[in-house]
Parts: sequence; C-alpha cells; structure tokens
Amino acid sequence: MRVVVVGGGISGLCCAYYLRKRDIEVTVLDSAHVGSRSASSWGNGGWIAPAQAGPLPEPGLTLHGLRALVRSDSALYFRPSYLPRVAPWLARFQTYCNQGDYDCGVAALAGLGKRCFELVDEMVADGITFDLWKLGMVCATGKPEDARKVLRSLEGMRQYGYELPDDVLGESEIHDLEPSLNSKVRSGFHLTAQWNVKADTLVTGLGTKLREMGVEILEGTEVAGFDRTEGSVRAVQTSRGDIAADHFVLAAGSWTTPLARKLGISIPMEPGKGYSFLLKPKMMPKHGILFADIHAGVTPLGDRVRIGGTMEFSGYDLSIDQRRITNLFNLARGYIDLEQPNYEEPWAGLRPMTADGLPILDWAQPYRNAYVATGYSMLGMTLSQTAGEAMAEMITTGTRPALFEPFRIDRFPKWIVRRSGA
Ligand SMILES: Cc1cc2nc3c(=O)[nH]c(=O)nc-3n(C[C@H](O)[C@H](O)[C@H](O)COP(=O)(O)OP(=O)(O)OC[C@H]3O[C@@H](n4cnc5c(N)ncnc54)[C@H](O)[C@@H]3O)c2cc1C
Repeated sequence: MRVVVVGGGISGLCCAYYLRKRDIEVTVLDSAHVGSRSASSWGNGGWIAPAQAGPLPEPGLTLHGLRALVRSDSALYFRPSYLPRVAPWLARFQTYCNQGDYDCGVAALAGLGKRCFELVDEMVADGITFDLWKLGMVCATGKPEDARKVLRSLEGMRQYGYELPDDVLGESEIHDLEPSLNSKVRSGFHLTAQWNVKADTLVTGLGTKLREMGVEILEGTEVAGFDRTEGSVRAVQTSRGDIAADHFVLAAGSWTTPLARKLGISIPMEPGKGYSFLLKPKMMPKHGILFADIHAGVTPLGDRVRIGGTMEFSGYDLSIDQRRITNLFNLARGYIDLEQPNYEEPWAGLRPMTADGLPILDWAQPYRNAYVATGYSMLGMTLSQTAGEAMAEMITTGTRPALFEPFRIDRFPKWIVRRSGA
C-alpha cells in the first residue's frame, strides 16, 4: 500500500509517521519544505495544551459583538476589505456560539487531546530530537475576576480527567510561583498539564526521523490538482508530474480548503493569521504564561521567550502588518520586563480555522481513498499526534475510529441554519 500525504506541517508529518510505523510506503509532498517559515507549524507558541482545548466559538459571542472587531489593534481582527469573503464563514461560525455545541466541542477535543503527552514521550523515546520543556502554564491577569473567568472557561475539561485548580491565586502567591511576572499582574492560576516545544524543531526533527524510516519527502512539490475517477483518486497532479498512490491525505493546513475544492469538496475553513516574535526577558519565566488580558501566550525557549497572539482574518496573505505586531509587542512589554528593548524574528502564520472550531479528520467524501486531516485551529501542536495515529488506523483498516466521529466532514449543514444549542 502506498500513501501520498500532501503537506509537510505538523499534521501531515504526524500522519506520515504513524503510517510508516504500520509499514506503509509513504510519500510526503510539500510546496515549500519541511520546516518552512510559511507553514503555521514553524513559529507558533508550541504549547502542548490539552486542558485548554475549548473550541473558538463560545456561547454568547454574537455577530453584533464581532462587528466591533474591525479595529486594527484588537486581538481578533477582520480586515474590512476581506469581510465580504469571510462573511459566509462568519455567519456559520456564529451558529456554533451556543452552550450545546460548545460542550460537545469540549468533549470531542478533550478526547482527542487525551493521549498527547504519552505520544510526545513515545516520539522522544523513538529518537525524534526536538526542544521540549515540561513546565506547566501560569495564567496571569491584572484582576482576580479575569483569572476566574478564564478558569471557569476551562471548567468543562475537569469531567474528562484534566486537573484544574479550584480557585485563583492572590498577588503574592502568583509572584512566588512565577517570579518573572511584573507588578501589573495581581492574580492568576497554575495548570500543571502543559508542555511546550520549539515548534520548528519538532517539525524538522520529525522530518529527519521520517527520512531515516524510509519516507520519501518531495519538497518544492506543489499539488495543483487530482486525476480522479468517480469515487476514487488515481494520482495527484504536481509540479513534478503525476504521482499515483493507493490513498491520499490532504493535510495542507489552511491551504486544504482550496485543495479540497479541486476535488469538488467545500469545507468551511478560513486562514486565521497569528503573529509571534522573540524577546529577551530580564528573568526567564519558569512556566509558559498566558497573558489573558491581552490574549497573548509566552513560551520559554532557553534564552528567549516567544510571544504569540492575535487572530486576523485577511485571507492567505502572509505579510506582517507592522501595526498589529508592534501593538502586541507594546502590550506584552507591559507584563514582562525586558533585557533588550526590541523584538526579534517577527513571524506570521495561518491557523486552519473551521467554522465550528473542530478539526476535520475523515474521508474526503465521496472519495473512498482520499482523506482530510486539517482544521486544528489553535491546537495543531497539541492534537496532531493523536489524530495522526488514528488517521493511520483509519487508512489501514478502512474503518473510521470512534475518536473521529465528532470530526466528520459531513457534519456541516449545507445551508447556514440556526442551531438549536442549549
Ligand atoms: C501565532 C500562533 C500561535 C500558535 N500557537 C499554538 C500553540 O501554542 N499550540 C498549538 O497546539 N497550536 C498552536 N498554533 C496552531 C498551530 O500552529 C496549527 O494548528 C498547526 O501548525 C497547523 O498545522 P498544519 O500541518 O495543519 O498546517 P501548516 O503547518 O500550515 O502546514 C501546511 C503545509 O502544507 C503545505 N502546502 C500547502 N499547500 C500545498 C499544496 N498545494 N501542495 C503541497 N503542499 C502544500 C505548506 O507548504 C505547509 O508546509 C498556533 C498558531 C499560530 C499562528
């Protein structure tokens, strides 16, 4: 059996890894290269954070509320000129902002994230080399009520076995726990179940391991179309010519939407741009930190921290909007004292954002031998391992694992309809 995986980001590489472990012949195709800066898997926060895996559409988020978010300095931003393009997605997204869908989403993501630490440890034991820290996470806020609000939003995870603190910490407790925080922080809480990686090292480490395992990785190879008959795909049409296989996995991150369209499949997924940069702090944090007040995450990476945040809907454009990254930098420096007054390595990446905030892990219906592994939104580093392992099972057994039931491609109604919720 031969499988072609389209996309050499964390999603495609994890699918390839678990397929190869089942002795399948695998070829990975990437239009750029494994570890490319243009992939979302390059400069992200690198948090492996299963306890924070709530879907983005939250109860109470309304179109009216979202309309206020066209200010270029807000954490969630819709570029006005892109609004007509993103409007159908947004209208769909809004239908999922209800308690019923949110609770189902939490249950589904809690299940998918459950084994992530175990699988990351197995990757280490298997000789995959990457930078990994098991530090836990501190949520830091200016006011106790804001820390409580974040803690309440995670509450649903408790019933699935994730450990959460019972209440928030006071000012002195939070500073004792995380001495790098400055005086703006007055409250917060501690989550032990969180690790972090330097994202680019995980993808390049996986790429190296895959080559050693005999996986063929064809870089600079863009998939432009498919040679298909009714119900099955024969080959992908690429810049190197046609490449035939028995099965095909579409794992091209945000670009899976235009790719699937070439198979006549429409998926409600939009690129959600995020920014990150490196800072040299005066004191290195002992944990990952969520600055919930400014929706920014801090990842300790040895002698630097990576700050990541913002969600911008402006299409597939990877350019860096200086105003937005400078704004994030100015907000972040209010919470962390810096050794050097500037940021380094500014980066933008496109998160694959589905309308209901859940991944799509399924057959590319109606094709019997094509699959979709995408839509990880803000959680690709957390969920790709478990999803890749189950995707390999699905391809080799021909049966959809129970774990994938909530992530079916046909769950999206054809028309944008009001959902009953709870
Ligand atoms: C600022 C920011 C912070 C984040 N922080 C975290 C975090 O802390 N924890 C977490 O779990 N997640 C985080 N994420 C989300 C995470 O980065 C994504 O969910 C994940 O990287 C998606 O991986 P992917 O493999 O699906 O897509 P990508 O990494 O984008 O990879 C897609 C690949 O497909 C290739 N490709 C595209 N089109 C084609 C084609 N036609 N033919 C061949 N190849 C093609 C591209 O070149 C690319 O290499 C963050 C994202 C951002 C932007």
